[in-house]
Amino acid sequence: MQTVVLNADFSYLNTVNWKKAVKLIIKEKAEVLVDSDKRITDEISVPLILRLVNLVKAVYKNKVPYTKKNIFIRDRHCCQYCGKRDFLTIDHVLPESQGGKSEYTNCVTACFPCNNMKGNRTPEQAGMKLRKAPYEPTVMDFLMLKMKSLGVDKTLKELGVF
Ligand SMILES: [Zn+2]
Repeated sequence: MQTVVLNADFSYLNTVNWKKAVKLIIKEKAEVLVDSDKRITDEISVPLILRLVNLVKAVYKNKVPYTKKNIFIRDRHCCQYCGKRDFLTIDHVLPESQGGKSEYTNCVTACFPCNNMKGNRTPEQAGMKLRKAPYEPTVMDFLMLKMKSLGVDKTLKELGVF
């Protein structure tokens, strides 16, 4: 269970686990904006969204680190050739054997059968079509995806965070 932490000015900061969230409340460092339906005791429930009492300086790295997992997240865990969600691998659009690099703009999620069919060829050479050109995701893209997966994106929109 993750709790969304907002800065004192209601801008998004990060997410923390419920233990950390409860600590922030006990130490009076944060106030509860929205409770979840998960209870710790009869009186205390796990907060869904917290707001810090004091403004902290948020430091964001603009770049999302290049990892296999982050490519899957960017591509919503869908093969970028056929759309299937099984046996996912990473495909180098321009194959490494042809000088393709391991970077966001050259890597996509591909299921094993599609990746195997494509082999050491470009999509054009293999007669395959990419559903979407690979792009470098931003931190904001990832935050939105995470908030959606937590089911709090609508509440945060209502609070004016996004
Ligand atoms: Zn596929």
